[in-house]
Amino acid sequence: MNKTNSLGQRVFKANKKITVTSPFLPPLKEVTAFLEDIWQRKWLTNQGEYHQALEKELATFLKVPHVALFANGTLALFTALQALRITGEVITTPFSFVATSHALWWNNIKPVFVDIEPEYCTLDYEKIESAITPQTTGILPVHVYGHPCQVEPLQEIADIYGLHLIYDAAHAFGVTISGQSVMNFGDLSILSFHATKVYNTFEGGAIVCHDSRTKKRISYLKNFGFAGETTVVAPGLNAKMNEFQAGMGLLQLKYFDYVVKKRRKISLRYQELLAQIPGISFLKSAPEVEYNYAYFPIFVDEGIYGKSRDELYEHLKGYNYFGRRYFYPLISTFNMYKSLPSAEAKNLPIATRIAEEVLCLPIYPDLDIQHVDNIATIIENFRSEDDRLQVGN
Ligand SMILES: *Cc1c(COP(=O)(O)O)cnc(C)c1O
Repeated sequence: MNKTNSLGQRVFKANKKITVTSPFLPPLKEVTAFLEDIWQRKWLTNQGEYHQALEKELATFLKVPHVALFANGTLALFTALQALRITGEVITTPFSFVATSHALWWNNIKPVFVDIEPEYCTLDYEKIESAITPQTTGILPVHVYGHPCQVEPLQEIADIYGLHLIYDAAHAFGVTISGQSVMNFGDLSILSFHATKVYNTFEGGAIVCHDSRTKKRISYLKNFGFAGETTVVAPGLNAKMNEFQAGMGLLQLKYFDYVVKKRRKISLRYQELLAQIPGISFLKSAPEVEYNYAYFPIFVDEGIYGKSRDELYEHLKGYNYFGRRYFYPLISTFNMYKSLPSAEAKNLPIATRIAEEVLCLPIYPDLDIQHVDNIATIIENFRSEDDRLQVGN
């Protein structure tokens, strides 16, 4: 497998499977210390001490008014729609993890897919107005890969048409625009603390909201609708975060800056090495945004690069590098959504093209920089490699 590229750099096959991400975990002895405390107090869930502490600490850390914790991000998304009594139709992006639309489906809301813009792959605000109908009650955009949506024009449309604006911010933990948390935009924002996200509590999630009355309603809804020992005010879910998750969250918070610093280094290295490869592009950084470097998506232009995204994806697997094609296929192509008029590919040309071109490369705090160099060299070599050699031997 050892080959050299035009610069004489050798490539190698990784000695183990390198996946697109790998969770950061705090030192085990810090975990056992908090477990001992839980064992002693025997309070495992239901607004425990760790739960209360994490809601406060996250609000301070993220510089947001209120945080309501959840067992996972999907339940947070589901509950956010309930909290604002959203019904009818909601405008959303097909270029996301499937949970974004599933949360609508479970609330009996019709997703209306609108195309994305090509620069950051977020919902294209210029195409929203023509998709609004008398049934539309909200907009559900995604800060995909942690790149903020165009928050100002989106708010303007929401204000003009009297629509709720809920952000799926599952990728955007810690992201700021001009020093302001991205979670302070819109009516509500949803976070995921799943194992694959930049900040994890094994599983977990949250809703960020702006006032204490909304927070109260959300707290009822995530706990069966209980508003007191014998009072039930809504058909709520059981969507609570438990004390183990909350304790993990408190520990992880101490390491978040370290995690982002390590991710940043990897991202900058990829950017430096891949910038010169014809047909390979990546997302630009906006100067006013502080990123969390959650993902490193590249886009393969087959006409220029000479190989398709899928060929590159398979080729990298041969070297033990397992990228992921986030977000392919588009949500709008899945069985439960594909018959919607808005799901037609001709309505979603940019998302359809990008879903065919995207490949997320491995990025996580423990990833050795030699792998980043190796991946970039493999990508560079593959471009000039002769197909006949590949097939022939
Ligand atoms: C991960 C993710 C979710 C769901 O979060 P879970 O915590 O896994 O339920 C929702 N939306 C997006 C965009 C995600 O990436």
